[in-house]
Amino acid sequence: MNDTMRQDAISRVGITIAIDGPAGSGKSTVSKELASRLGIGYLDTGAMYRALTWYVLDRGIDLEDTDAVAAAATEMVLRLHSDPSDPHVWVGQTEVTEQIREPRIALAIKNVSTNLKVRAWMATEQRRRMMEARQEGSGMIAEGRDITTVVCPDADVRVLLLADQEARLRRRTLELYGDATREHMEIVREQVEGRDKADSAVSEFMTAAPGVETVDSTGLDIAGVCEAILAFVDEDLASRVA
Ligand code: C5P
Repeated sequence: MNDTMRQDAISRVGITIAIDGPAGSGKSTVSKELASRLGIGYLDTGAMYRALTWYVLDRGIDLEDTDAVAAAATEMVLRLHSDPSDPHVWVGQTEVTEQIREPRIALAIKNVSTNLKVRAWMATEQRRRMMEARQEGSGMIAEGRDITTVVCPDADVRVLLLADQEARLRRRTLELYGDATREHMEIVREQVEGRDKADSAVSEFMTAAPGVETVDSTGLDIAGVCEAILAFVDEDLASRVA
């Protein structure tokens, strides 16, 4: 199938695509590219956890107070642009697109993402956004840590994107520093390993759940990963389009 045929099929039957993977697996880049090619929405669930962390810090809420942090999730007015070429994030009237990428957010986020009340709220909210996009006539690709298992276990296409540890570190370092010197790699190693460890306490994203396809991006470029996932999309569409 080519992209026009895929978009035509999606306009008839809709699609939900769930992509999970650890930091640096390439899931954001690949998900944005696929959303553009398929003409569907893009949901960066990590940006939702980041936005809540920004809000909690901004309000001076105690990160250890699980009830207060969970209450902040329900009161925060969060707006995400689902256009993959223009992914902006607002909390209330404040645009936080850049601020949520600051290191202070990555440092504090585990207090938010390991809060089970927050996770329950996030899962409901993320699922609602995915279902709405599908019902509106196209669909959505959502990426995160628990989309294939908790948020949307019934997604039409479910993929776990993996890459070996060094490849993931190299990608993250290039993204953050524009180079991959040994010194920068070691700084990023500490951050990424710490975050993966905290995240893996609440979500399983290194082993595919039953029915979830694994794609290893270690030796592949973006185009190669997209082609691998599009093969699953084609299989799904062929089974649902009369
Ligand atoms: O994907 P990204 O690096 O932006 O995610 C930031 C953090 O948000 C992750 O390290 C994780 O703690 C949390 N997260 C999560 N579940 C998701 C997506 C992100 O716990 N579905």
